[in-house]
Amino acid sequence: MRRFAGKTVVVTGGNKGIGHAIAKRFGEEGANLVIASVEEQVHAAAEELRATGAKVLPVLCDVSDSAAVKRLYAAARSEFGAIDVSVQNAGIITIAKIEDLTEADWDQTLAVNTKGVFLCCQEAIRHMRQSGTGGRLISTASGQARQGFIYTPHYAASKFGVVGITQSLAKEVATDGITVNAICPGIIETDMWAYNDRVWGQMLGQYGPGELMAEWVRNIPMQRPGKGTDVAGLVAFLASDDAAYITGQTINVDGGLIMS
Ligand code: NDP
Repeated sequence: MRRFAGKTVVVTGGNKGIGHAIAKRFGEEGANLVIASVEEQVHAAAEELRATGAKVLPVLCDVSDSAAVKRLYAAARSEFGAIDVSVQNAGIITIAKIEDLTEADWDQTLAVNTKGVFLCCQEAIRHMRQSGTGGRLISTASGQARQGFIYTPHYAASKFGVVGITQSLAKEVATDGITVNAICPGIIETDMWAYNDRVWGQMLGQYGPGELMAEWVRNIPMQRPGKGTDVAGLVAFLASDDAAYITGQTINVDGGLIMS
């Protein structure tokens, strides 16, 4: 399928993990890609994504920095024209007992996961309204936007916030031809989950590498962890014409782990 031929798609955190899989899927379906991250590795990731045949603009951008976010969307528009799809995917996590969580943990997690989503949605909407072509906003929340897990109250708060932003903006831009949705991945094999496995594993018991993840996967009805491609399929659907009448929704992609 080439549902996004010639469309401009921005993916934050597009250099690795879930974001990279999302960008690759859009590239394979014909989109022009703008990928953003804080590490220089974004350039190597762009090179890799060009193998899909896509044109790719890598941009160094900290999504918690409003000036950098403005530059990101301006660069996307000037390189490829109207922005059709914006995927707010960049995110971070730390795990610690309540006594050990610092104010900096709270501030940084909310700054990237929540304010970052807000700033990117704000800029994307500004550009989509200016070009008058409508658009699709899709933000990566988490199973932790449904249910808080242990030792991560700051992360849970940050992801519940993404759902609130999604619902509020969906109502505000509904008549502009812009849909706004969020997704909740479950356990997806990425560097982030490797960190979760190691740190939660040490804190919850004497789990060796991969053992905690294996135990949690046994609670997934489909009995396997997710892949970036599982998430990318949902994002591509939400960005497609088939999802034209879906807005303000938060959709789980987790093999059935959470059913609410
Ligand atoms: P990774 O750690 O593999 O990737 C995180 C991405 O976010 C990287 O591209 C990173 O860029 C980028 N990023 C982090 N901070 C910033 C910032 N300040 N500005 C711009 N980019 C930033 O994680 P995942 O791929 O697993 O996670 C992607 C999203 O999915 C996150 O929002 C996460 O919370 C969410 N999620 C993941 C789940 C999982 O099981 N893996 C489950 C539920 C939700 P860089 O490499 O340059 O630092």
